Amino acid sequence: MNLRRISGLLSASFLFLCVVALTTHAQNGYARATAQPIDDEYTKKIAEYTTEKFFNSPLTDYLPASPNVPTPKAVLGDVAGAPGKLPYAEDVYKYMRMLEKASPRVKVFSIGTTEEGREMIAVAVASEALLAKLEENRARLNKLADPRTINMDDAEADRLVDQSFPIYYITGTIHSPETGAPTALMELAYRLAVDESPYIKSIRDGMVTLITPVVEVDGRNRMVDVYNWHLAHPGQNWPGLVYWGHYVAHDNNRDAMGMSLKLTRNIMNVYLSWKPQVLHDLHESVAYLYDNTIGDGPYNAWVDPILTDEWQLIGWKNVSEMTKFGMPGVFAHGTFDTWSPGYLMFIAATHNGISRLYETFGNGGADTLTRTLSPDEYQRTWYKQNPPLPRAKWSQRNNNNYEQTALLISLDYFNKNSKLFLKNFYLKSKRSIEKPKNEGPAAYVFPADDPRTGNQTRLLRLLQAQGCEVHRATASFTVAMKKKATARPANRGGSPSPAASPAKAPETESRTFPAGSYIVRMDQPYSRIADALLDYQYWSPRDPQQSIYDDTGWTFGELGNVQVERVTDTKALSAAMERVSGEVRSPGGVSGTGSFFIVNSNADTNLITLRYQLKQAAFEAAEEAFEVSGRKFNRGSFIIRNASLDVVNKATSELGIPALAVAQAPTVKTHPMKAARIAIMHTWASTQDEGWWRIAFDQMQVPYDYISTQEVARETDLNKKYDVIIFGPGNGNVNAVIQGRPMYGNPIPWKKTELTPNLGGFASTDDMRPGLGYTGLMNLQNFVKNGGVFVGADDSASFAVATGFTPGVSVQTSTRLRAIGDVLKTRMVDSASPIAYGYGDTLSVYCFNGPIFNISNVVGGGGGGGRRGGGGQRTTGRGTADDPDVVQGRPPAEMPEQPPSSEVWEAAPIMEEQRRNLVGLIPPNLRPRVILRWGNASELLVSGLLDGGDEIAQHAAVIDSPLERGHVILFSMNPFWRGQTAGSYALVFNTILNFDNLNAGRKTDEK
Ligand SMILES: [Zn+2]
Repeated sequence: MNLRRISGLLSASFLFLCVVALTTHAQNGYARATAQPIDDEYTKKIAEYTTEKFFNSPLTDYLPASPNVPTPKAVLGDVAGAPGKLPYAEDVYKYMRMLEKASPRVKVFSIGTTEEGREMIAVAVASEALLAKLEENRARLNKLADPRTINMDDAEADRLVDQSFPIYYITGTIHSPETGAPTALMELAYRLAVDESPYIKSIRDGMVTLITPVVEVDGRNRMVDVYNWHLAHPGQNWPGLVYWGHYVAHDNNRDAMGMSLKLTRNIMNVYLSWKPQVLHDLHESVAYLYDNTIGDGPYNAWVDPILTDEWQLIGWKNVSEMTKFGMPGVFAHGTFDTWSPGYLMFIAATHNGISRLYETFGNGGADTLTRTLSPDEYQRTWYKQNPPLPRAKWSQRNNNNYEQTALLISLDYFNKNSKLFLKNFYLKSKRSIEKPKNEGPAAYVFPADDPRTGNQTRLLRLLQAQGCEVHRATASFTVAMKKKATARPANRGGSPSPAASPAKAPETESRTFPAGSYIVRMDQPYSRIADALLDYQYWSPRDPQQSIYDDTGWTFGELGNVQVERVTDTKALSAAMERVSGEVRSPGGVSGTGSFFIVNSNADTNLITLRYQLKQAAFEAAEEAFEVSGRKFNRGSFIIRNASLDVVNKATSELGIPALAVAQAPTVKTHPMKAARIAIMHTWASTQDEGWWRIAFDQMQVPYDYISTQEVARETDLNKKYDVIIFGPGNGNVNAVIQGRPMYGNPIPWKKTELTPNLGGFASTDDMRPGLGYTGLMNLQNFVKNGGVFVGADDSASFAVATGFTPGVSVQTSTRLRAIGDVLKTRMVDSASPIAYGYGDTLSVYCFNGPIFNISNVVGGGGGGGRRGGGGQRTTGRGTADDPDVVQGRPPAEMPEQPPSSEVWEAAPIMEEQRRNLVGLIPPNLRPRVILRWGNASELLVSGLLDGGDEIAQHAAVIDSPLERGHVILFSMNPFWRGQTAGSYALVFNTILNFDNLNAGRKTDEK
């Protein structure tokens, strides 16, 4: 920006400010600057587009005029919220940069790009005096955010609070069909820069409002395309927004833990570098404004109680003021529970700031519509004394009025109490540092001898991305630990009640961690996020909250298959250690000499990356464990040939994978591991959940073709192109996959055109309606029969079962199971299967009411395939319970051998009697092979809510079901979920790596 221009504007506006100050009085409220002219034309349009007077407030029913600063009309051609106007992100940015050019009170910062390369911005609005002091203020906020820098000195903190101004960060339209925020924020930025009303001037002089008008930029532009298509095709059905961002849809607001998406990383970086006191995310769903921050219980168990009080303070101020304005439908409680820390706004909640969120009422575009509500929406409740109208004409302008009015009230309130909130910011930071000596724990330790250093590194890097400091022990150290509990007492309901027996003083034992162990100290400012991610979660099945909003468990060590020890002994903090500078790296590279390279199989996610990076090399997998020069290698370890030392060393160093070079290949049974050709198949109905699979594949650099069910319907020889076809979960029932959408009405295209430049690209079609069809189903089944591998999880596994891909597997209808997005334990059944390579005896996985599989040796589960019960119970007769009955008057008969009992996860053996003419008897080599099963009811729950767990306990969890020459791999869990489940990735990656040798290690029944 041109400096001379700034100073010119500065003096002009300064004079103007003085005049205004003399002519207005800020009464307890929001008096306007009477001397400031208003933009009559713009103001008239606001009234015209607002459908009822009471859908607006005195704060936003006018627009002040400025001689030199353009209004949103300069870009929109109409006012913010006008019908038919939905700007692309670039247009919003163009306007923000026009503001920056015209006003010294606005600065635009580029904060990174999206997956598809589009820019993200943050716009700072404040007085020129404040903007000039951003850097010195940042230095003060950094000190308040890390009280260690001022030796936890409260008096010094008070001085800093006095000198500092706070930052309130507003983020818009993360959810692409929620379309109103960008225009509301354009106008809000204008008001904050231009309006001379005393309360706005005071906001401008007292604090920085930071605005990211579009969070999900890729999705916003697609949404605008869809809306424009709709405008150009009146009377037709328009495309549903099947893709929002490049990978996921509404789950982009569940990424604040796993941080897989660029938008999360970019907002986190803004948060960590600007140190705002509030992160306020704008959404649209319910009528007319739900300040859902206060929400409902259960509250997240790891945030500071100071924060939950702040939620109440600011939220109720919003409701109260808007009630006084007579605006209906403003409320603060409701159905949102505040348990999961996965929402974008929780970046602030878990980092000593304040998280806030509005749900306003949007029309999913800029049409003005008559909206009819359901009784539960418009009825008066204790927390909604002035409920929304049962039926009302609703416009995007109304939505913009509500959003802006509420934000202005919040900004004003926050500004008037800015010292309180700055002091709270300091106190929350201080209390985070004091965690070890208060509630604990002292630290989380990642032992140096964890066999999965790749996954360990991955999790530690996530903590670093969350702003946490990671230390490494330079010597071994010993701490007292709570004695590890043995198996929990059996509990029929599968829902342990931890408080059932009075707690005895926990017995302790000492534990020594080796040098090189990583330590995440809890005496650091961002201890809360580490604690929230690494701790265990327990949600009582009897919690009053029965409509659960999201996942109930997420323990990152468990889901990452990484050893994480919660240490309460503060001695851990005095261990010899140094802070890791830069990203945590796991040691890799080649040691030894020779032209064979051996890599241990340990279920780390980066092993598959190595396979595809060294695509030209020959890889073999050892089918048994072996030893070379005193080093032990697991079953499944790689033996690499035809690759140069330089190439292998470079790849393994970068990936952090240790490789041992040897002159002679070890003598162990092996099979080749070819680089499989992979397709990920999607429907045109929903792509959100499979997006989490794609992002993991892309992160691991596993190449794949992205194909739709329609392409599978057209391709009769899928084997020519692919070895493995993956069908991610989230597609609904069999009918939805096969039939697609109803064929009524017009074709619905999803492709790049002049009108829709942001659609298509990586996935496109002339008509989204047709599904897989029965031809596609046959193509898919022939693909497997001819030797292909099909992978399905949750509903896509049920799809394979229901359509005849898996003779011998059936799905049992669940009646009681409530596994609501939690972490459950599985146990290894067949560690010789290549799918199990590198895994141990147990594995924690993510489950959301996964399908309950039953296994049979007979097609369809008949002919004695079901589980038998009640064996060993004798009938009434002579003798004791263990005695045989005796038939009187004849010699005792010879008793036939009792059928061997079978486990829940196994197929029941077929007895001779049943084998007679048993057409459906599956040949032994084609019977389902169970790799993992769910844990026993008493041990099943690791984290979250589990009720009726006995229903799924012990059932098969991962199955390799042969179909002629191919295999169908079924998961009753979701191995790829929100970037949180790296521990189960290798189950799928092992399948891919060993795709044409999945029968390795298989034991077949004799008959
Ligand atoms: Zn939303």
